[in-house]
Amino acid sequence: MNQLKKLLQQIDGKSYKGYKQIQGSYSFSNYKLKVDYVQGDPFAAPSKIRIQVADHIKSIRPEWKRTKKRRIYTEDVIARKVAEVLDKNKPNVKGSGKSGMVSIDQPKQEILERTAVSIEGDQTTVCLTVGLPANGRRINGKEADKLFFTILPNLIKDSVLAIKEEEITPFVELADQHDAILERMREEKLISFIADDSILPRASGVSDRPMKNAVPFESPEQNRITIEVPHRNEPLTGMGIREGIVLIVGGGYHGKSTLLNAMERGVYPHIKGDGREFVLTDPDAVKVRAEDGRQVTNVDISPFIKNLPGNVDTSRFSTENASGSTSQAANVVEAIEAGAQTLLIDEDTSATNFMIRDERMQQLVAPEKEPITPFIDKIKSLRDELEVSTILVMGGSGEYFSESDQVIMMDEYLPYNVTDRAKEIAEQHPSGRETNHAKFGSLPSRHFLSQSIQARKGKKEKVQAKGRTLILMGSTEITLDGVEQLVDSSQTRMIADILMHVYKKGTLKKEQTLHQLLDQIEEQFDQKGLSSFAPFQDQHPGELARPRRFEIAATLNRLRTAKVNDLR
Ligand code: ADP
Ligand code: MG
Repeated sequence: MNQLKKLLQQIDGKSYKGYKQIQGSYSFSNYKLKVDYVQGDPFAAPSKIRIQVADHIKSIRPEWKRTKKRRIYTEDVIARKVAEVLDKNKPNVKGSGKSGMVSIDQPKQEILERTAVSIEGDQTTVCLTVGLPANGRRINGKEADKLFFTILPNLIKDSVLAIKEEEITPFVELADQHDAILERMREEKLISFIADDSILPRASGVSDRPMKNAVPFESPEQNRITIEVPHRNEPLTGMGIREGIVLIVGGGYHGKSTLLNAMERGVYPHIKGDGREFVLTDPDAVKVRAEDGRQVTNVDISPFIKNLPGNVDTSRFSTENASGSTSQAANVVEAIEAGAQTLLIDEDTSATNFMIRDERMQQLVAPEKEPITPFIDKIKSLRDELEVSTILVMGGSGEYFSESDQVIMMDEYLPYNVTDRAKEIAEQHPSGRETNHAKFGSLPSRHFLSQSIQARKGKKEKVQAKGRTLILMGSTEITLDGVEQLVDSSQTRMIADILMHVYKKGTLKKEQTLHQLLDQIEEQFDQKGLSSFAPFQDQHPGELARPRRFEIAATLNRLRTAKVNDLR
């Protein structure tokens, strides 16, 4: 008889702590079960187990992992299958607290590199979280037996073993298609591609699913490009946005922000049926917004802000409570510091005084009394000196007409290329504002000191994510509400683990710039995988998904405990 069965009989009815004994590895007919972490009581964070199905039981075709993208998409669809089966047959286990719960880190609309399922090596590993059954605070061995010997075997039988080639193939094909689109985008220097018939709006402010009966996207002729993609008879057509300065205009409520939001999410791939499965954006595009109240530590915002009252040095600017304009300036500079190639900006979330200053205001307020050099005066040097593109939504002012390479107008949710008309208007009605196309100015080269990460809280060291936008680091909170391209709480958990890893390894002791630190983290991702950052090696790594370097940087930049040297 299975060792686990015996153990469960022995500990039945005993104090919950007795469950600790079942930690270990067990063989089942179709898989190996690894009980990695056992919860301390029925109400605590649930236990963590892995199930490993050997390739001779469930064959994983070599072509499913021929490219990294294919592997990630295959792992993603298997995780979806497990989640779907769990959703359909809710495990029927009685008991207190989390007794009988079984869950997997369920992927949402995006396809992210994630630890939930791995097909590396010669097996499929499924990471699950389970609540070990209890009566009150005593072990319920019978229900535990049901969990391990009926529920889990059935789950694996109905998901990993049952998933058909026809279910996996579309994901593998989508991976190839995304690769092909991204490659074409690189060749043609496109920073965004939005396929015709895409559905951009979401069902509601709280649902990321596609809106029903939305107006499908239709590319304007001047921007229409055709991309041959594999596994499709017809090529894709859609709007290609070339690098440079792109202005999105249009009346209120005509779909400008919806278009920009789709673009900003397009840094991640989406599943078929999302409506944005063929909306792809430069993976190094960063949404930049105003975020008053945020911490800023030693950032050179002098390209945008100089001569603040009180003689504040803005080339080494720190504040615990940034204003709208200073926070947006810091967000721009930090994005570029981390390596952003494209900035995405929406008027709805921008500080007006950061974006423009018109003729009348220039007349009224003397230049030496205005610390802000508005973004409009730097947008060209960003493009020409730093090769950073900008996609900007601006319905309220025509000041950017003369600065833009392309002007797209949204009209009843459909885009039109109105570049020529906008240029004509700019000539006929010259703006009286004095333009000042200054050089961009200096950029910071910052090193975060090791004291920045303070993971200690009393006797314990802890960095823990609480949902998508909050990390508890020791006794400080890091709030990430303004970090819009952090899309999954598993990414936030991963960032928390990275902070802990960097803290434990003393990585910050090395005098390297933030940019170099991010390179190092990405290299570790690529070479050793996500789980290499997890606190325990060769165990359930936790529910993790890969964040981009920009969201890791954004977290460091928001540390209220940051200590930063500018190495210049
Ligand atoms: P703007 O930024 O131009 O003011 P929004 O992008 O906020 O406009 O869109 C206004 C509303 O229109 C939103 O409720 C959005 O969900 C809806 N909407 C956007 N695009 C479409 C579309 N293609 N079809 C139907 N409704 C849409
Ligand atoms: Mg808007």
